[in-house]
Amino acid sequence: MEDGQLIGGRIIDGKAEGEALKVEVTAAVAKLKAEHGLTPGLAVVLVGADPASDLYVTNKGAQTEATGMKSVIHRMPAETTQAELLAMVRKLNADTSIHGLLVQFPLPGHLDATEVLATIDPDKDVDGLHVINAGRLASGLPGLAPCTPVGCMILLRNTLGDLKGKTAVVVGRSNLMGKPMAQLLLQADCTVTIAHSRTKDLAGVCRGADILVAAVGRPEMIKADWVKPGAVVIDVGINRVPSRDPEKAAAGKTRVVGDVAFDEVRAVASAITPVPGGVGPMTIACLLRNTVSAACLIARIPSPFD
Ligand code: NAP
Repeated sequence: MEDGQLIGGRIIDGKAEGEALKVEVTAAVAKLKAEHGLTPGLAVVLVGADPASDLYVTNKGAQTEATGMKSVIHRMPAETTQAELLAMVRKLNADTSIHGLLVQFPLPGHLDATEVLATIDPDKDVDGLHVINAGRLASGLPGLAPCTPVGCMILLRNTLGDLKGKTAVVVGRSNLMGKPMAQLLLQADCTVTIAHSRTKDLAGVCRGADILVAAVGRPEMIKADWVKPGAVVIDVGINRVPSRDPEKAAAGKTRVVGDVAFDEVRAVASAITPVPGGVGPMTIACLLRNTVSAACLIARIPSPFD
């Protein structure tokens, strides 16, 4: 389809796409059990008692079990030492019933996240944050890529089909989001630009994009006149801003918005992810997908998601 023909601002339903992916993961788990006697296992380590992280980890565990996989959660006290945490990671590295391992971030300030990440077995690194996996991704080798960019790619493929030859702009260059997103788009034969806080004429750079991915953390920064008519816009940002209702705002109530000014950009784009309900629900579904991929990688079985 030619650019411009698609204009209509379709809202990409990340919730429905995430549910569909979980159905695929559940089927893949059943097949691995039936054909290979293999039950993928995901271990999550949580240090400290931050209620939001605790809820998130509990949710990950429940969703893992719902697909038929094994879920293990290790809750460690806030005063856990670096040596104790590394010992836990090494124990889970050696546990053959565990195929995916992640340490929930942020960690308490006295712990060194870089060393923790470096200690995780790269083949079990379902967050895709180990430097070995970043290197594999950059080299086009099989490995585990970070969940959110993987989720964005699924949304893009389901929206556009073949991405070959598209011009893609990723705003943001973090190791978690921007860099792996750009690598995945490059692997899909897009022509990729990575923009960041020092980019000159950011609006002009964005206007060149058939695919615009915003992973910045600045509420509603990307405006309609930054977007090429007919572009597909993927909004990764999660930003809390005061409630629209002045009374609620005065009482400290907030709402969540993305990095894209949704209403005005929707009028220009051919398709756009909302916040919430766009990229967010894909992230956990991709964690489950990565756990299946890790189990296959370790068992040397082709992954159903390759
Ligand atoms: P991050 O590590 O803070 O990186 C932000 C990036 O945006 C940096 O590369 C920064 O550039 C760039 N940036 C900041 N201000 C800018 C500006 N005014 N113009 C252009 N670029 C600018 O954040 P992150 O971890 O990548 O996350 C980005 C957003 O995505 C956050 O809102 C986060 O909450 C959200 N997120 C959502 C999910 C999800 O599941 N939906 C997952 C991960 C992240 P410099 O490098 O030059 O500083």
